[in-house]
Parts: sequence; C-alpha cells; structure tokens
Amino acid sequence: MKPSIPPGGEIAVIGAGIVGVCCAVELLDAGYRVCLIDQAKPGTFGPSKANAGHIAGASILPLASPTTFRATPGLLLDRQSPLYIPLSYRLKVIPWLMRFAWSCRERTFMNGVHALASLNSMLWNCTDDLYARAGITGLLKKPGAIFLYESERSYRQAQTAWALSKTFGIETSPLPVEQLMKLEPHLKPHYAGAIHTANWGVVVDPQKIVHGIAKHAIETGARLIRARVNSIARTTEGVELMLDSGERLERDGAVITAGAWSKHLTRQLGENIPLEVERGYNITTSSPDTSINHALIFADQGVVATQLSDALRVGGLDELGGLDIPADPALEQRVLETARDLFSDLDTTDATSWMGHRPSMPDSLPVIGRAKKTGRILYAFGHGHYGLTHAPATGTLIADLAVGRSSQIDTAPFSSTRFL
Ligand SMILES: Cc1cc2nc3c(=O)[nH]c(=O)nc-3n(C[C@H](O)[C@H](O)[C@H](O)COP(=O)(O)OP(=O)(O)OC[C@H]3O[C@@H](n4cnc5c(N)ncnc54)[C@H](O)[C@@H]3O)c2cc1C
Repeated sequence: MKPSIPPGGEIAVIGAGIVGVCCAVELLDAGYRVCLIDQAKPGTFGPSKANAGHIAGASILPLASPTTFRATPGLLLDRQSPLYIPLSYRLKVIPWLMRFAWSCRERTFMNGVHALASLNSMLWNCTDDLYARAGITGLLKKPGAIFLYESERSYRQAQTAWALSKTFGIETSPLPVEQLMKLEPHLKPHYAGAIHTANWGVVVDPQKIVHGIAKHAIETGARLIRARVNSIARTTEGVELMLDSGERLERDGAVITAGAWSKHLTRQLGENIPLEVERGYNITTSSPDTSINHALIFADQGVVATQLSDALRVGGLDELGGLDIPADPALEQRVLETARDLFSDLDTTDATSWMGHRPSMPDSLPVIGRAKKTGRILYAFGHGHYGLTHAPATGTLIADLAVGRSSQIDTAPFSSTRFL
C-alpha cells in the first residue's frame, strides 16, 4: 500500500482529547513530525476529561442492535429510562435516529460485532504498550468488571448477549449474589443476578491519562498549538488550515480527532458524516467510607461506577441533545439520586456533577480511515461510549494508514463512507 502522507512529513492532529494524543504519539513513532492543535489544554474540554475511566475489553456488541431497537420506544416514553431526548432537539435528531434504527438490523449488527471484536483484539497490547511508553502504567488497574441486574428478567435477557460475546472469545462467569455482596460490600442488596468478567480495566484518573500521553508526545517532538481550527481544505501538496488566531497553516497531512466537533470540519471536505452527540452525566464524590473493588455496570439503570484514585465516580445516561444546549439539571439530579440509591453509605456532600459529549455514530463504530477525497486527511472520531478504550488501537491504525503499512485488522468497517 502507498503511504497516505509522505514519510517524514508534518501532520496536524486536530483535537487533543484521548484519541488525538494517542494518534500524535503513534505518528511520531512512525517518523512523522506532528503538531497537535487544540482550542483548549489537552484533555480539558471534551469527554476525555472526566469519563468513567473503564477500559471495556469485554464490550464488543454495538449499542445499535435488534434488542435495542425493540426496547427504544419504551425507553423514549419512560421519563426515568437512561435514554432521553430534549424537546428542542427531537426534530434535529430524527435523521440520525433513522440511521440508528437501520443499523439495528441483524446483519449490520453482526458486522458491527465482528468489527468491534477485531478492534478489541488490539486493545490490551496497544494500551499496555502506549501507557508504558508514556510512563502512565501506574494509572491503569485491571480489576475486572461486574455487571449487575436488578430483576430476574433483565438478568435472563442479558444471557443472550453474553452467549454471543462468548462465541467471540469473551469469557464471563455468573457471580452468585451472596458472593457479589462479599466482593462489593458497599452495594445495597438489590440484585437478582450478576456477571463477572476479567477482561475489563479501569484508569484511576482519565484526565491524567490524556495529560500523560500529551506530555509524552511533546517530549518526543510534537508541537502543541493552542487554537481552534476554523477551516480545513485539501491542497495539491497536503492540507491548509485556518486558525481562529488568523494564522494559516500548511501541512503535508492532517488527522481530524475533534471528537463530537469533527463534523464541522468534515463538512468542509464535502462529507456529510452522520456524527451525533450522546451526552452523558456523572457525579464524582470523595465519599471516604465508600469504595469499590471492580468496575461496576448497573445494567438496568444505565450507569456505571468507578473507583478513582481519590474518589468514586458514578454516571452514564444517554441524552441525544447536541452540542449547544446546556446540561440538564434534572439529569444531573437523577444521577445523584441513582448513585445514592446504589450504595448504602455514599456521602455526596462534596459531589461534583459533569456532563460530556460522546461523539457517536449510528452503528456504534468509530470512524478510522481516510477522507473520501484525499488520503492526506485521516479521520479518527466517533468513538461514542468507548473512546478511552479504543484510543490506543486507533492511534496505531492511523499511523498504519499514514505510512501505508498493512494493519493488524481490516479497517474497512470503520470507513467514513460506510453510510453512503
Ligand atoms: C459520561 C461519560 C462516560 C464515559 N465513560 C467512558 C468509559 O468509561 N470508557 C470509555 O472508553 N469511554 C468513555 N466515554 C467516552 C469517551 O469519553 C469518549 O469517546 C472520548 O473521550 C472521545 O475522545 P476524543 O478524543 O475523540 O474527543 P474529545 O475528548 O471530545 O476531544 C476532542 C478535542 O478536540 C478539540 N477540538 C474540537 N474542535 C476543535 C477545533 N475546531 N479546533 C481545535 N480543537 C478542537 C476539543 O477541544 C477537544 O479537546 C464516556 C463519555 C461520557 C460522556
């Protein structure tokens, strides 16, 4: 395969969230010069700042599935469900919802399972290797995860999904409720069933992960530019960027890693990529007497819990609310109340609330590939619920595409043109 971007050329990486910093490191490692451009300090603006910190090795099933399709009408009608669409955004999100519904077909879903399983097959090698190079291995723990089900019905329904995951080599085991309460004594005893998987990690501070990888990128030669990229255009020799400072930059190539804000740039390249925003909410509380020993996923509430280095974080939910409207205080309150309801002794006196914009594609697969009209511009965005999980593998795949070397996995399912 021919290189997309000439060897040794200079590449602008647009967006220094978790995906951008991982791409920057791998491109430097492949022999490119890199400038990392962000309107904010790395990891301080998008969801990379304060996500739940789960490295979801066992998660290979797209959210867009026949099961979700059947459940969606009920979820939309139930004010207490984890899915919510604000009134002002309902019309705007219809085209994306239609593509989501289309992606829920069995065949598309199964293609998605294969694609995510292949991406996850790179996960641990890429993560362990990158974190070691960046000197942040100490921030990664591998405690495994426990999925919790409140009713017999939801536990039973989940078995179909776990059985499918097993056929892709995902190992899980049922966890008797008495044992669950011994392993996680701070949980309130509401559960009908639980599933344990060892294939799950946790970072104890997601923002420090971005900072650590950004620092490593800078130490190995990346130049950090603090600016917003207002426009991008291809040229015969590469790309031209206009920054909000008025500066014009010419580079041999670019990677768009602007998370949920990437659409603004891809539109200028003539591509209408169906990227939407799934907003998520969480609370972080120091609650000194409450700690957990695993990543916890509360399947019925649509929230997860994470033990950070000095606090407990609980959150999730899915609000299709776009980029512009402010966080919904009612959803912040809901997360706070859910957290109190899950743990017997949670102290939320100093809890802080946060809302982040997940960059989401209708079929739950990220976009990792070349721009439609030029190989000089690469795309790495749309990682949805699992950007922290998939960022190191994405960085490796982007470097492969730039250099023109064959990748460990087939990247065709992640192409931006899959919706044409
Ligand atoms: C509540 C919640 C919990 C989550 N939990 C997990 C989890 O446990 N595990 C997991 O794997 N994932 C999780 N995620 C998802 C994960 O956080 C995201 O998928 C990931 O952070 C996306 O990273 P990114 O680098 O693509 O985008 P971002 O983090 O949004 O970074 C994009 C960067 O681009 C910059 N930018 C945008 N436009 C421009 C421009 N025009 N010019 C210059 N800079 C620009 C922004 O300033 C930003 O810094 C969670 C998300 C949420 C909201």
